[in-house]
Amino acid sequence: MREISCEQLRTAVAELFLTANRQISSDIRAAMEQARDRETSPAARYALEQLTENYVCAEEDGLPICQDTGMAILFADIGQDVHFTGGSFEDAIQRGVADAYVGGLLRKSVVSDPLFDRKNTLDNTPAIIHASIVPGKQVHLLAIAKGFGSENMSRVGMLTPSAGEEGVFNYILETARLAGPNPCPPIVMGVGIGGDFEQAALLAKRATARPLGVRHPDARYAALETRLLDAVNALGIGAAGYGGRTTALNVAILTAPTHIAGLPVAVNICCHASRHAETTL
Ligand code: SF4
Repeated sequence: MREISCEQLRTAVAELFLTANRQISSDIRAAMEQARDRETSPAARYALEQLTENYVCAEEDGLPICQDTGMAILFADIGQDVHFTGGSFEDAIQRGVADAYVGGLLRKSVVSDPLFDRKNTLDNTPAIIHASIVPGKQVHLLAIAKGFGSENMSRVGMLTPSAGEEGVFNYILETARLAGPNPCPPIVMGVGIGGDFEQAALLAKRATARPLGVRHPDARYAALETRLLDAVNALGIGAAGYGGRTTALNVAILTAPTHIAGLPVAVNICCHASRHAETTL
């Protein structure tokens, strides 16, 4: 049994959310610079110039990439031979998130009651934690700082098997069309196909963090990703909604077995500020 202290976990979580908020990942940055260089619409090109320059300013000055510093989402894949010592796993993560958002002067965006009080918790907790038990002695942490301009444009559809590939394609494309300029394009579309209602959504959220350029291992889904990316870009919504060639940087699909009567499809939209960071303890 390997021991990992809750203090180490807390520090790691804090560092992940600070990094995610201040440094865009190299693949997103490269894709945005490529989109900027190939853009033919002057207004969209200007937007892409501003957005890519903003990445540089944020990293150099230690400032958040966007004023919406997101709700803290943490995927924790926990080796079954790990024992957390010196406190509670949940508490360590929540304290790490508070350390990052309070200590790092990041905007606090979480309210304790969703409908009536809507009172800010003042430290951006609670984070949403998705913990899985996996073989081994390591803990993999994936932190996502999720802005809600794009989260609000996400959808879950309980399609039936007769919808087939075209039904799935149309649902995903319709989601991008309905979102329009609201999710701060260029967007990253995470798609979950299969499972049940909530598993499809979880797959979609995790898919938003898949590195650009990595395709689904099944050639049929990989082809669907490419076809969808072309179709979303053909919508012409463009950077910041100014038209042009790039509405989406990526469409990433994750899949799971499902019920014989169902074909769940979830689309989680992420903005150009696709902020995520990961580490292994
Ligand atoms: S959707 Fe993304 S880019 Fe737009 S305000 Fe929210 S975090 Fe910022």
